[in-house]
Amino acid sequence: MRKQVFSAATACGLAVAAVGCAGGARYAGPDWRQDADSIFRALDLPTPTLARLGSGAPGPAHWAQRADYRIDATLDAENRTITATAHVTYTNNAPEPLTYLWLNLEQNLFNDDSIGGRLTRGVERFGNRDGFQGGYDIDSITHNGEPLELTVYDTLGRVELPEPIAPAGGVFEFDIAWSFPVPPYGSDRLAIEEVEQGTVFEIAQWFPAVAKYDDVHGWNTLPYIGQGEFYTDFGDYDVSITAPRDHIVVATGELANPSEVLTEEQMTRLAQARTGPETVVIRGADEVGDPASRPAGDGPLTWRFHAENVRTFAWASSDAFIWDAAQASTGTLIQSVYPKEGLPLWEHSTEYLRFSVEHYSEKWFGYPWPVATNVNGRVGGMEYPMIIFCRNRTSEQGLFGVTTHEIGHNWFPMTVSTDERRHAWMDEGFNTFINYYAFKEYFPDEPPRRGDPARFARFMTVDGQQPVETPADYLDRRLLGALEYAKTSAGLVLLREQILGPERFDRAFREYIRRWAFKSPRPADFFRSMEDSAGADLAWFWRGWFLETGALDQAVTRVKQAGDGDASITFRNLGRLVMPVVYDVVFEDGSAERRRLPVQAWATTDEWTVTLTPGRRVREVVIDPDEAFPDIDRSNNRARRHG
Ligand SMILES: [Zn+2]
Repeated sequence: MRKQVFSAATACGLAVAAVGCAGGARYAGPDWRQDADSIFRALDLPTPTLARLGSGAPGPAHWAQRADYRIDATLDAENRTITATAHVTYTNNAPEPLTYLWLNLEQNLFNDDSIGGRLTRGVERFGNRDGFQGGYDIDSITHNGEPLELTVYDTLGRVELPEPIAPAGGVFEFDIAWSFPVPPYGSDRLAIEEVEQGTVFEIAQWFPAVAKYDDVHGWNTLPYIGQGEFYTDFGDYDVSITAPRDHIVVATGELANPSEVLTEEQMTRLAQARTGPETVVIRGADEVGDPASRPAGDGPLTWRFHAENVRTFAWASSDAFIWDAAQASTGTLIQSVYPKEGLPLWEHSTEYLRFSVEHYSEKWFGYPWPVATNVNGRVGGMEYPMIIFCRNRTSEQGLFGVTTHEIGHNWFPMTVSTDERRHAWMDEGFNTFINYYAFKEYFPDEPPRRGDPARFARFMTVDGQQPVETPADYLDRRLLGALEYAKTSAGLVLLREQILGPERFDRAFREYIRRWAFKSPRPADFFRSMEDSAGADLAWFWRGWFLETGALDQAVTRVKQAGDGDASITFRNLGRLVMPVVYDVVFEDGSAERRRLPVQAWATTDEWTVTLTPGRRVREVVIDPDEAFPDIDRSNNRARRHG
């Protein structure tokens, strides 16, 4: 049961001079209910600053760090190792100096002694399979040729600086050299697959990267355990990848030296692919393994890629890749690489990817990069800027689903760069939400795969609920999909379709994306921005759906009418969660009238009686006739008239 409305604490809390009140309640701001337990109470959000405004927009004092990388890497395909050097240019835009740096050393996860290695079994999705022992071997880290002191703590490294990096634009450059053995299955982020015609390497989270320093947490040093993904600064990348001559390499970024690594014929086909939406084969199945499909000569080849404004860099390399491409209406080069094991399904990959890039660009925010590439290998599904890894080889809907999901991450979090380890719902859930509409548009006759509010009701009564707003690595692993993906998406669908309406929601959601593109919003920024641009107080919704675990149970308990005079209808809200009540008044003549009880009805009571003057005889009242709400008990959603 919810607390009674006018408890002593509530009455006290409503008094303006409440500080000395006997009940101990404090006046927390203008609100409908000050009851500490009220779902309508204002959220306890951080105080706005000039960096993060009360409107939910970034303010005039907003800043973000920048990390630019020049990397030279060599793939030794035979020994399955990568050896690389990087020159890193780190810009401190914070208003304070920095006296040390933190690095993310994510390959150290793949060591039995790592935190993640000890907590995760190899068979799990985010495990390290096949008894593999990995991790970085860091040969050197220097500044102007002088060694820097690096202390490694699991997947983090702390670098002592010779002198502080000046605030507001101070630059620190350093060089680092490292190598590591590539995991055969590394927590579904990178992997090696042996296929009939060769080996597919999918490489990600593979270089020591400066951790994210921001205005909310300072250095973000949550360890890389496996379930939480990554949170990094934007930067430009110039990456050279040296791989065996018979390999095709794809990566984050544009290929900068096609004439050195492609045949004349392949460049001609690529130019053809750039002329329109038709998928053009760049290297066909029958050409894989044919030396004529690679430039003549001996020894490895070096592929150069350039990427701007991305939060990391990933790549893939294989001697078994079939390659096709097309041009999206956004001007983006869309391409897919896959071994023949992906046939015939993967012949559709480029079309699915192109559709998704066009759909999300049109609906939410223009795709900001020149390339998008889908790679088929052992990684089940993972996203990086401009490149995604998708495993599915079994069904059109399955491949479409994983492709549209992974490329959707190029909006959340590759563009709107949220903290994936702390707030996974802000990338997984927002992405699943936009996927919901992409899937509906591509497969209009199929039921939605994930994120439908009514279908989500079943989950809301299972034991062991956690709030959506829980750091990824502190979530029960069995709940990750249900909470961070499905519940978040279902909540946004509900907010769009039932609470705000599509036009009002879309304007607000686009505004949130526009405000925070290439910046890093926190949950408070999202909540505030949506309320500010939709013009709605949604504290009850954010609290009920994202911060708490309560369920929705609406009921109609009594319908009374004398003759065809006034009718009174009594509704009850039996769960912790509140929603507007959408209901049909059904008349004896079979006609029905759709009505709506605003959610604010529940601010002061759990029971609300509506009086109508229909001028007709009411037969019954039905709550949520379209089954659009996640009501956990529909048996009390219908009541016939008595009297
Ligand atoms: Zn995802």
